[in-house]
Amino acid sequence: MADLGNPTKTTEILKKYQFHFQKRYGQNFLIDSHILEKIVQASNITKEDFVLEIGPGIGTMTQYLAEAAGWVTAVEIDKTLIPVLQDTLSAYQNVTVINADILKLDLHALVKEKNNGNPIKIVANLPYYITTPIIMGLFESHIPLKSITIMVQKEVADRMQAGPGTKDYGALSLAVQYYARPEILFTVSPGCFMPRPNVGSAVIRLVRYVDNPVSVRDEAHMFSLIRAAFGQRRKTLVNSLANAGNLQITKEQTLHALEEMHLDASVRGEALTLSQFAMLSNIICF
Ligand code: SAM
Repeated sequence: MADLGNPTKTTEILKKYQFHFQKRYGQNFLIDSHILEKIVQASNITKEDFVLEIGPGIGTMTQYLAEAAGWVTAVEIDKTLIPVLQDTLSAYQNVTVINADILKLDLHALVKEKNNGNPIKIVANLPYYITTPIIMGLFESHIPLKSITIMVQKEVADRMQAGPGTKDYGALSLAVQYYARPEILFTVSPGCFMPRPNVGSAVIRLVRYVDNPVSVRDEAHMFSLIRAAFGQRRKTLVNSLANAGNLQITKEQTLHALEEMHLDASVRGEALTLSQFAMLSNIICF
């Protein structure tokens, strides 16, 4: 029975192991059983699923995941938490804990070994200091993936779901939306964590597309254009691309592409949709 999702039990475990929170690891543990149940429910896990949890902490959400999923592997960077996890997860035979940095782990090897290379589900209350590298790393590695259900900073969740012409729209929105359908599910207040974070949080589910929604000849080229366009988001697209030294795109090339796409020469990158960026890249690249 999952029993950690409350302040009393969490405090008891922390005292027993004389655990000290490490700010550098983004440690804010969930202490609200209602939120934990909602996250697990939102991730649509069944006994057929293999789940990867990033940053189990003292194993609070891991217990809930172990009860819902077939198998769980939890990757935790902080070695002082490993003995704690051995204790709190001792009743679960379907959980493996790995002491590693998720950004350095060979995820392809993990998915092959643990799930025969079949698509996995990822569930996590992410360490906020590395949210973007974790998400981008998961997508760009192209590991077999069904969905990612994660707690992130509210403002980052907004950016992932934002569309063209809004203040939150940027390179992260386009990258996430190229790989997955994002859906913000609910917000979570600082009082649901120990210690309380200084920011609001939200749970977002990213369902991986089987086929990417746009057809682009060179993904890496499209993402370089996107980064350049938003690197100088107040400038026109023509100028931002010309100023990006690494791209070597002339103003004439961009103007020609914009004309072909029936877009105004003074358009800014922030007005373009994902499919327009794909088209722009396809025209400029070839
Ligand atoms: N899942 C727990 C919960 O909900 O109570 C803890 C979540 S806490 C926000 C983030 C966890 O990620 C911490 O346990 C932290 O030590 C771990 N972590 C931080 N950086 C990590 C990394 N690079 N790789 C793996 N785990 C990491």
